Amino acid sequence: MSIALTLTEPRPRKKAPVHLADLDLAGCESALSEIGQPAFRAKQLRNQYFGRHVGDATLMTDLPAAARETIGEALLPRLLDAVRLDDCDGGKTVKAVWRLHDGALVESVIMAYPDRVTACVSSQAGCGMACPFCATGQGGLTRNLTTAEIVDQVVACARIAAERGLGRLSHIVFMGMGEPMANWPRLQKALRLITSPVPDGVGLSARHVTVSTVGLVPQIRKLTAEELPVTLAVSLHAPDDELRDELVPINTRWKVAEVLAAAWDYAEVTKRRVSIEYAMIRDVNDQPWRADLLGELLAGRLAHVNLIPLNPTPGSRWDASPKAVEAEFVRRLRAAGVPTTVRDTRGQEIDGACGQLAASVREAGSSSAAEPEPGGLTSSDAAS
Ligand code: SAH
Repeated sequence: MSIALTLTEPRPRKKAPVHLADLDLAGCESALSEIGQPAFRAKQLRNQYFGRHVGDATLMTDLPAAARETIGEALLPRLLDAVRLDDCDGGKTVKAVWRLHDGALVESVIMAYPDRVTACVSSQAGCGMACPFCATGQGGLTRNLTTAEIVDQVVACARIAAERGLGRLSHIVFMGMGEPMANWPRLQKALRLITSPVPDGVGLSARHVTVSTVGLVPQIRKLTAEELPVTLAVSLHAPDDELRDELVPINTRWKVAEVLAAAWDYAEVTKRRVSIEYAMIRDVNDQPWRADLLGELLAGRLAHVNLIPLNPTPGSRWDASPKAVEAEFVRRLRAAGVPTTVRDTRGQEIDGACGQLAASVREAGSSSAAEPEPGGLTSSDAAS
């Protein structure tokens, strides 16, 4: 099978407007001085945006009323336009499809649990990794998101969670659209902003942030060098190169052994348990011998396995593994001493992560009355 992989960066079609989440404090101060505003407003704005999750300058009552609009235009342009905001699971799951300034669509999902509120965010519009079971992978890469477009999803999710009484946003998983590591420079800045204390950032604990990757080894090494204790999740999906070459085509460049070697180095430096993602696909990767092989690869490592029941994408030939097969897979991994959990699925009534929600909006043109494809999606909370 030959699959074109997009590793080079596509040129952005139109430059995203400047936003305070793209600038450091000094950058904010100089943008303010250009519109004749005192430097101290930078801190006010950053407190409001990062700390109180206010994204609209006209609502910032600590700014002079006459200046709010000008300040908003200069530093808080609207980056994300909600084209859909749906909820399910009794309101505990909220899914947003955002339209970006150039028309690109991305999605975020909020999942409220008794002990945490998790946002699943996108790092790219589309994805170039071409994993055949993933809805996003089918459409190719549109473009990288800017740092501010990533951070603004986090801030918007925090705001929505608070407005809906779901609680305080505590966890972030980069499991929406895109391959976060393929957008490394923007991801790196976004991780800093998400984890820096207010007013320099959103102030979330690095331990509550999960970066999920197909296994871009050079970027895993860059993340390791950051020494930021975020959780690394590796989308393995097969323990052997033959099958992984097909399920995660970038495996033709970085093999299972190389990816896991980079993951173990990450675990050693950060002391963080690596999460191994494994989508259970009926009769494809769910055989007992593959569970045993996976167990051998992971035994004794600082790792745990997160099995994801496959969400069949529309038109896909693949299905989720039967529960009994899944249970046997879990049993064998645990017998090998590998901590294993099966991911809870959220959002069965409305499409969510993995690109299906944005895809259903795109297919329906600009009509917001479009019904999403039935079948549901797994929205996931891997950070534990
Ligand atoms: N590009 C990153 C983040 C993508 S989505 C990565 O690959 O890790 C997060 C997880 O959902 C990945 O493990 C991905 O392989 C998985 N996934 C994608 N489509 C899926 C589907 N249809 N069913 C189950 N899991 C899926």
